Amino acid sequence: MHPNKQIVVVGGGFAGTTLVGELERHLPAEYQIVLVSEESYTTFNPMLAEVVGASVFPEHVVAPIRQILDPSRGSQFIMGRVTAVDRERRVVTARTLAGMREIPYAHLVLAFGTRANLDLVPGLAQHALPLKLVGDAMFIRNRVLQRVACIELETDRRERARLGHFVVIGGGFSGVEVAGELADFLAGAVRFYPRVRRSELRVTLLHDLDRLLPELPAVLGQAAARSLADRGIDVRLGTRAIEVTAQGVALSNDEPIAAGTVICTIGTRPNALVARLGVALQRGRIETEADLRVRDTHDVWAIGDCALVRNHAADAAVAPPTAQFAIAQARHLARNIVHAIADQPTRAFGHVPKGMMATTGRLKGVAHAYGLSLSGLAAWLLWRAYYLSRMPTLGRKFRIWIEWTWGMFFAADITHLRFTRTQDSERDALVP
Ligand SMILES: Cc1cc2nc3c(=O)[nH]c(=O)nc-3n(C[C@H](O)[C@H](O)[C@H](O)COP(=O)(O)OP(=O)(O)OC[C@H]3O[C@@H](n4cnc5c(N)ncnc54)[C@H](O)[C@@H]3O)c2cc1C
Repeated sequence: MHPNKQIVVVGGGFAGTTLVGELERHLPAEYQIVLVSEESYTTFNPMLAEVVGASVFPEHVVAPIRQILDPSRGSQFIMGRVTAVDRERRVVTARTLAGMREIPYAHLVLAFGTRANLDLVPGLAQHALPLKLVGDAMFIRNRVLQRVACIELETDRRERARLGHFVVIGGGFSGVEVAGELADFLAGAVRFYPRVRRSELRVTLLHDLDRLLPELPAVLGQAAARSLADRGIDVRLGTRAIEVTAQGVALSNDEPIAAGTVICTIGTRPNALVARLGVALQRGRIETEADLRVRDTHDVWAIGDCALVRNHAADAAVAPPTAQFAIAQARHLARNIVHAIADQPTRAFGHVPKGMMATTGRLKGVAHAYGLSLSGLAAWLLWRAYYLSRMPTLGRKFRIWIEWTWGMFFAADITHLRFTRTQDSERDALVP
């Protein structure tokens, strides 16, 4: 394939995979698409909280990128981490399973997202559990099960209370969802641990603003707080975690909380690749022109969380880092790349958000869609219907639907699956 006919996309998240799907449909056949991404799958982040709460299996919130690509189009997927971009020579360098590789491009799209920021609060990196990747969600779920199993064997009353206290930092979408899922999971799991009392398991949600879910109308933030409180969650508004230690969390306005598990849902930092690109940045995000081209370039484009994109349907306000905007930008960019190749004018990006929603545990949620505010079961059903429809591949949709239906009638899975191999089984000690 001629390098002048190659479109290279870096990052197989919401932005990258949507873009490739659109390009496969609309690019002239002589153009080849190459998608480079670190993992072989794309992660459906809005469902990570459900993995923590064992509402779905981890394998079902990821979709193999090779199965998303259209085999008849001949697009190439390379599993690798892009480490450098040479804009003079128009090549990207990637560390792949087969060593370092150079990949030439005619147009390059940067869609590599952001990383979790564990420097926001002292002790976060050492003692808190971030929720950003599917591995994080699996780890948290195992940690929760370990904690409950530890309580059974612990005789010290204060230590039992500490082990049974789960603190979630951040009252945005993922914090609210994880707190709700966790409370439901613990309530369902505790009956299999006869030496643990329900009252020994507590979930606290810390949020530094005066209401949850600031992106939604105030009334829905209040409805979410009520719904979580009804599940026994201690929602502390206007409360900032100022330090996380092995013993728990120090607070800005109250006594420290003794907690065995601290889950962090706040903060992102730029991907390390950003600093090596030599392009204009604003607070670590890649600055783009109105048509999504990277500022001062003609053949490099950026979309999704790694890009600073202005929404020209909303007075050029900076687009929020959400899946909805990543998908809208990807669709728009596909059209602009097709136009750029055909020497036609490109268009400014604009998107009117359809709404936002969050679950607050099983059968409860809040939603603001098409100007309407909903809470309770209707919002929860809407959340499930929407995310099921967005899930890549028909097979995954079906599996999740079965799992959700299964979960309505049977207890959540409390298997603590450890990855012990035969070679390790003799000397393997239980990890704390
Ligand atoms: C727990 C959680 C819950 C969320 N819930 C919601 C929600 O309910 N609604 C919503 O709208 N948004 C939600 N979001 C935000 C949403 O997931 C992001 O806005 C969206 O994923 C951004 O898409 P992206 O493609 O830009 O980045 P990502 O989805 O992060 O994808 C980036 C991809 O690039 C890859 N990559 C990174 N660096 C390199 C490299 N150097 N070389 C190659 N590949 C690389 C990564 O492995 C990843 O696959 C949530 C996020 C999290 C973490």
